[in-house]
Amino acid sequence: MRTLIRNGIVLPMTGGQTAFDPGSVLIDGDAIVAIGEVDALDADPGSAGAEVVDASGHAVLPGLHNCHLHSGLLRGTAESMSLWDWLKSYVDPAHKALTSEIAHAASLHCYAESLLAGTVSVMDMWRFMEGSAEAATTLGIRATLVPYVADLDGYDYFESIESNRRLLESHRTAADGRVRSWVGLEHLFYCSPEAFRAAADLAEEFDTGIHTHSSESIWEVQESLSRFGRRPIEEFFNRGILGANTLVAHCVWLDDREIELLAQTGTSVAHCPCSNMKLSSGPARVGDLRAKGVLVGLGSDGEKENNNLDLVEEMKFASLLQKVTTLDPTSGDPWDVLTMATIEGARATGLGDVSGSLEPGKRADIITIDLGGLHTTPVLHGRDFNVAAHVVFSASGRDVRDVFVDGHRVVAGGVPTTFDVATVRARAQAAAEELFERRAALADA
Ligand SMILES: [Zn+2]
Repeated sequence: MRTLIRNGIVLPMTGGQTAFDPGSVLIDGDAIVAIGEVDALDADPGSAGAEVVDASGHAVLPGLHNCHLHSGLLRGTAESMSLWDWLKSYVDPAHKALTSEIAHAASLHCYAESLLAGTVSVMDMWRFMEGSAEAATTLGIRATLVPYVADLDGYDYFESIESNRRLLESHRTAADGRVRSWVGLEHLFYCSPEAFRAAADLAEEFDTGIHTHSSESIWEVQESLSRFGRRPIEEFFNRGILGANTLVAHCVWLDDREIELLAQTGTSVAHCPCSNMKLSSGPARVGDLRAKGVLVGLGSDGEKENNNLDLVEEMKFASLLQKVTTLDPTSGDPWDVLTMATIEGARATGLGDVSGSLEPGKRADIITIDLGGLHTTPVLHGRDFNVAAHVVFSASGRDVRDVFVDGHRVVAGGVPTTFDVATVRARAQAAAEELFERRAALADA
């Protein structure tokens, strides 16, 4: 089964600022078999008889990798609060009220929204994740499942090392490798040193990764210094979880030594600019991290702190936040943020050999973005090429037309092929209403 994505403006993201314009990508089964100028691929014997997807007037690029997401249904209900107040008064009570059915509906909804906006892979920290696995399998998105493990007093309603182990036993990999499980840790102040040690052991036993979030607010750094005598990333190092298979979200408030620790250990970072701005957390030192060789992918964070899961839009926030923080207009270059959203995010999540760039041998994780809107006009070629800038600064996830994951066309001309939007939406609406009822009942009890 071959498909030719033909006559688009192809950004392969294989390094440098190169494009095939016009260009095509040939898929055979789940893999990319050829990429190049449109004439060359038309003449390729492999293209004969292939199903043609006309990409005229579209950018064609690798599918986007969301390196930090929390499935959820709290969108728009807890605004204008600081991170720790908001966790305590809104998010944690909702966790207490969560059921496996509600959690499943949330993942289905968040993954569907992600796919429609061009995201082919999510790193999701959530709960009751057997349902998340089912949602990802049904929709055809790549998902890395990371349970929220917490063990300190007062957080017994979260996931545990034992439930993370059960998930690894059942879903270490599933759905032809599209679904994977990692080891998750909630914030530093939710987990004991023993939980960290157990997490590191579990990741080693199952040869898998560790994901957590840290150093989001200044308060967190001060609290870590007063409780442990160390800054959060130093404490992570001390607790033995940094390494090449570890991905830490946010990493906003880092000193030079913490950046050095991330670089030395090969730890990757998920940068969440929208969340960092919305919760008034602060600007991450993205340029300094990348200059030291730390891989930095992009994350949306949860629907409650973003408030959408549009990674196309996130690229614009990533760029603008760098520009306003550094006061350097050369920072936040569109090709750089495209790199972070694609191949660097794939590498940060251990998928760099499989996804994140368009090259023969890789899985066909490909999106097309319509450049036919007034907001993406004019489209210029050659000397005046402006398509990378259009994708980052002018387009949004709503301009995504086609999404291929593993060669499956899960979105075709803006229409999902694996799910019905109205059904997913109705289920999420009902689940959210139930969740808020349950949360209110628990608060009154
Ligand atoms: Zn988070």
